[in-house]
Amino acid sequence: MKIPHVRAGAGCLVLACTALTGCARPQQEVTLLDTRTGHPVEGALIFSPDGLEVHRSDVHGRATLPPGAMDRGLTVHAKRYAPIELQPGSIPDTLRLVYDSVRANPVEAAMTFTRADTLKGTYGPYRENNDLLGYALDVKVDVEGRSLTGRNTIRFRMLEDGDRIQIDLPQAVTVDSLRFGAEDVPFTRDEGAVFVDFPETLRKGETHDLDFWFSGQPVTSGRFGGFALREDSLGNAWLTTTGTGWWPNKDQYADEVDSMTISVTVPSDLVDVSNGRLMGVTDLGDGTTRYDWKVHYGINNYSVSLNIGKYVHFSDTLGDLSLDYYALPYHLDAAKRQFAQAKPMIRCYQKYLGDYPFPKDGYKLVEVPYSGMEHQSAVTYGNLFENGYLGRDWTGVGISDRFDFIIIHESGHEWFGNAITARDVSDVWIQEGWDTYLEDIYVECMYGREDALAYVNGYKSKVRNREPIIGPPGVAHWPTQDQYFKGALFLHTLRSVVDDDEVWWGLIRDYYRTFEHRNIWNTDVITFFNRKLGRDLRPVFEQYLYFASLPVLQASFRNDSVRYRWKADVADFDMPVKVRAGGSLETLHPTTEWQSTPLNGVAPEDWRPATDLFYIDFEKE
Ligand SMILES: [Zn+2]
Repeated sequence: MKIPHVRAGAGCLVLACTALTGCARPQQEVTLLDTRTGHPVEGALIFSPDGLEVHRSDVHGRATLPPGAMDRGLTVHAKRYAPIELQPGSIPDTLRLVYDSVRANPVEAAMTFTRADTLKGTYGPYRENNDLLGYALDVKVDVEGRSLTGRNTIRFRMLEDGDRIQIDLPQAVTVDSLRFGAEDVPFTRDEGAVFVDFPETLRKGETHDLDFWFSGQPVTSGRFGGFALREDSLGNAWLTTTGTGWWPNKDQYADEVDSMTISVTVPSDLVDVSNGRLMGVTDLGDGTTRYDWKVHYGINNYSVSLNIGKYVHFSDTLGDLSLDYYALPYHLDAAKRQFAQAKPMIRCYQKYLGDYPFPKDGYKLVEVPYSGMEHQSAVTYGNLFENGYLGRDWTGVGISDRFDFIIIHESGHEWFGNAITARDVSDVWIQEGWDTYLEDIYVECMYGREDALAYVNGYKSKVRNREPIIGPPGVAHWPTQDQYFKGALFLHTLRSVVDDDEVWWGLIRDYYRTFEHRNIWNTDVITFFNRKLGRDLRPVFEQYLYFASLPVLQASFRNDSVRYRWKADVADFDMPVKVRAGGSLETLHPTTEWQSTPLNGVAPEDWRPATDLFYIDFEKE
């Protein structure tokens, strides 16, 4: 299910009509194209003169603007392109953007993407013509053979007439057959995509089920394993999955099922732990046992996982919320000790954000042989039952060794990542930056403001500032690791910009409540903060997220006064900042124009911006 998207041909007027309100004023659609290539420009920011509403161009280069937008004029900012200012009343249907090598980030400009990246990453025509409703995944796992066989019944509704849809499955896994009603339907494999061709046109609004039968040995790869078979310390098989490469699904972020079932048949001496609520365990009498799980909510494809091992189970509750823990028998005592951190953590997250998002499924922690992953309602854990991260003080400032980084970070994704999800990988700071900031909220909740300040500033050593946090769209490219650490430091800076803790924590709760169980764009985030605060923060969001460099506060000292201004990529960059002048903390409102203020006897070396509250660079002339 996803938020319905009304679309018309380029340049058409779209009337927002309902039975109750009649027809509202017309919306306008504009299409952005690259002048040289004629290709659509995706991911451009289009904003009104007051900057409060920010829109985004889609995969077709199209953006639907609200009624009245053309009366007020518009500004278009796209990475790599010269900005466009449009005067009121002069907005054409098509805008041609001119490449600007000075604005292009060199790291991004050097990136190349393959056809496979585009097939995987783009919300293309055979994805956008349908809306996922449900999966019924039923697999039998040959653990010793590291293989599986099974079926995913994919339920979808057509959003327009069509006879083809795209499902994804890596080449390493065999498509055994695709059953549509009583018929086998043909398909074409192209890289990781499986294009399914129906014998007749499926009509808009119709709901259908496709039985996708598959088998094989999915690839074992990456730090977390993919489809990985290992042994525990006693020589028992231990098979875990991460990522989406082991089962057929519509592999993108924007569209999630409304709910799903996961049935997993395993050797009877092992246990499968998957996502959702355990509905039944059936001994099939042939040496195998089936575990039936039900996920009662939308779920990211990459969250769906199998964890098959010789697990023991223990449980607890937090109010009405069930807490279920799975560990290897020889780690039972360690798990009981370490997993006790889950309860106070959930209390903190509920205090600052809102209720645990998946109460019908409960919360689980599941031991695995890799560091951990945010699998929805079945968070996987492999952090050695020690505080810190794999035995290290993660932020290096003596705070992260007070708690288990993996429990706190991966569980935080239940709120930021699983309940609120980015619509495309390019915007995935919505998951990782926000969740990293949530670690800092945890520290503040448990240990107070001073330690939270030290913790988040400890992340500065991990930031590179070489490429933007928002990556190239539509190519399944995982953006720079700055999306985590700089993302958290940016939110910390935004709190200092807001400069009112009551307002800030209210905004954070409101943000979570507004977008819970939704898949959103970064432009939704910007518009939310602008509207709630009634202030144009677009230059701040744009500089931190769409450019590599930090804003630089420049200062020059002369005759008991200081001149100061911002140097930034965003031409109209404008952000308040606090400075420590002698013993006092003062707020300045620098712009990109020089301003000056008296020093009143404060020595230049005693005048410094509060870089612990604002993540910026400082240059003295
Ligand atoms: Zn994460």
